[in-house]
Amino acid sequence: MGDMARLGSWIEPFPEGIHVKPADAWVDPSRPKDRALITHGHADHARGGHGEVWATPETLAIMDARYGEQRGVEVGYGDTVRIGEVDVSFVPAGHVLGSAQILLEHGGERVVVSGDYKRRADPTCPPFEPIPCDVFITEATFALPVFHHPSDMGEIGKLLRSVATFPERTHLVGVYALGKCQRVIKLLRAAGWDKRIWLHGSLMALCKLYQEQGVDLGDIAHVSDAILENFRGAIVLCPPSAIADRWSRRFADPVPAVCSGWMRVRARARQSGAELPLIVSDHADWPELCQTLKDVGAPRVWVTHGREEALVHMARSLGIDAEALHLAGREEEGT
Ligand SMILES: [Zn+2]
Ligand SMILES: [Zn+2]
Repeated sequence: MGDMARLGSWIEPFPEGIHVKPADAWVDPSRPKDRALITHGHADHARGGHGEVWATPETLAIMDARYGEQRGVEVGYGDTVRIGEVDVSFVPAGHVLGSAQILLEHGGERVVVSGDYKRRADPTCPPFEPIPCDVFITEATFALPVFHHPSDMGEIGKLLRSVATFPERTHLVGVYALGKCQRVIKLLRAAGWDKRIWLHGSLMALCKLYQEQGVDLGDIAHVSDAILENFRGAIVLCPPSAIADRWSRRFADPVPAVCSGWMRVRARARQSGAELPLIVSDHADWPELCQTLKDVGAPRVWVTHGREEALVHMARSLGIDAEALHLAGREEEGT
């Protein structure tokens, strides 16, 4: 255990983010920093106001759209760049477009900051690649054994069966703007829904960005552009908050649905107003988190945000030196 105490000693966690000392850089800092390495575009990881931003080209495009043009340095998947005394690589995390794990190599040690990730296939981004490492820094959004996400095509099937059962009604589907929206569209296309999919205005910009980045979403249109459209039998995507909003009154007898990993929790589903809760998550569930710890084989694990204690306990039962970091300001956008 003598060596173990020093593993990753050049990485220092702070509530505002992870400091990589020999690169003089921060990973996903919640406060403005001179040099930030960003795992992905969700607002709880990517903020505006940094000096240099090192990220994948897709993540930089998302940050440019959200915060104005960044002083960005693009690092593509699989490329390695030298920052200070650290070799830095961006590896697919399978979470949203552009999402990456950040592999940091220094002094013969490999540290991986996973950001947010999932292990199942997502047609909008390349799949998570497990990287053998000495220190693995992981999220824990759904780190309780109760979270076992069902098959996403099964959940989309429930939506399409409801559309077939209620052809006079509009299905309003609550989705987060970055990632969930585009994945649900792709899942609907894979399930054979080739009709126009209508979108709330706040979802348009990121869908356009995905299309510009080569993700084909098929026939999509802004609800407000429809003149002679009654939306009966239509699928309309909107932010989850719009379901209870006066915006939804324009639709006749809508069926409110929400796509989120939290729909597994009855109280959360009721609170969301979803008549049709669909468990579609962009985060690893409990079996995926446990499998990932085994796949990367890191003797030391740090847990950043979510239900940290259960994952720390599980890791320790595997003989891993695990601890919770309690990072601040992770609001889990896009669960
Ligand atoms: Zn995220
Ligand atoms: Zn997150």
